[in-house]
Amino acid sequence: MPNCKNCSAPVPANSIVCAYCGTRNDTDLTGIHPFTEVEPDHERTCPRCQVAMKTLDLSIEGTFLIERCDQCLGMFFDAGELEALIKATVKNVHHVNHKKLNELHKLNRRDAYGITYINCPVCDAVMNRVNFGQRSGVIIDRCPDHGLWVDGGELRHLLEWVKAGGEIYNQKREAIKQKMDAREDIKIQRATPASFGGGFESYGSTLRRSDPHIFDIISRVVSWLLR
Ligand SMILES: [Zn+2]
Ligand SMILES: [Zn+2]
Ligand SMILES: [Zn+2]
Repeated sequence: MPNCKNCSAPVPANSIVCAYCGTRNDTDLTGIHPFTEVEPDHERTCPRCQVAMKTLDLSIEGTFLIERCDQCLGMFFDAGELEALIKATVKNVHHVNHKKLNELHKLNRRDAYGITYINCPVCDAVMNRVNFGQRSGVIIDRCPDHGLWVDGGELRHLLEWVKAGGEIYNQKREAIKQKMDAREDIKIQRATPASFGGGFESYGSTLRRSDPHIFDIISRVVSWLLR
C-alpha cells in the first residue's frame, strides 16, 4: 500500500486521493515505473476533464509514449501498451494469493465516477467498458481502434492484481473449464447410444451442454476446485 506524499497516511489500492489530507497522489507511476515528460506526440484531451494531456515516455524497450492527464491522473495507452507495461513491471509471479485477489475484486474505484461512458481521446467515439482480465475488478474503457483509458489509481490496482496471481488464476480456471466441457461431451456421446432404441427419447438429450442446470453445477465444482 503506498503512502501519501504529504501526510504519510496509507493510500489504499485503486485510489489517488488521501482520505486524511485530501492530497492527490500519483500512486500509479511514482515509485513503480520511471518516466519523463516529453514534448506532446499528439494533441489529446482528457476524456474526463477536457484538458490537454501530457505525454510521458516510460522508456520500455526504447521510446514508449503514453498520455496522462495532470488533473485526474488518468492515462491513455495505445493498443498493446498496457499489457507491455504490466509485463515490464511485474515479473516472476508463480502463486495465486486468493485473499488478495478477493480484496482487489471488491475494490472497484470506478464508483467514484459512477457508471459513465467516456469518449476515445483519438476518434471521439464512445468507448466500451471492459473488466480487465475478466475478473480484476478494474473496469477500463476501450476503443477497439485506438487503445485503453485507465483512471487514476487503476493501474496500481491492475499491477497488484497481476502480482497477486490474477492472470495465473484466470488460466487455471480456463483450463479446468475446458476439461469439464470435454468430459461433458464424452458423457453426452456415451449417453446417446442407438441401443436405447427408436421411439425412446434418449437420456443424452437431457444432458445437453446448453442445460443451465448442468452448467450451474459445473461452475460450482470449478469454483470449489479453485478455492
Ligand atoms: Zn495525506
Ligand atoms: Zn483528467
Ligand atoms: Zn478511438
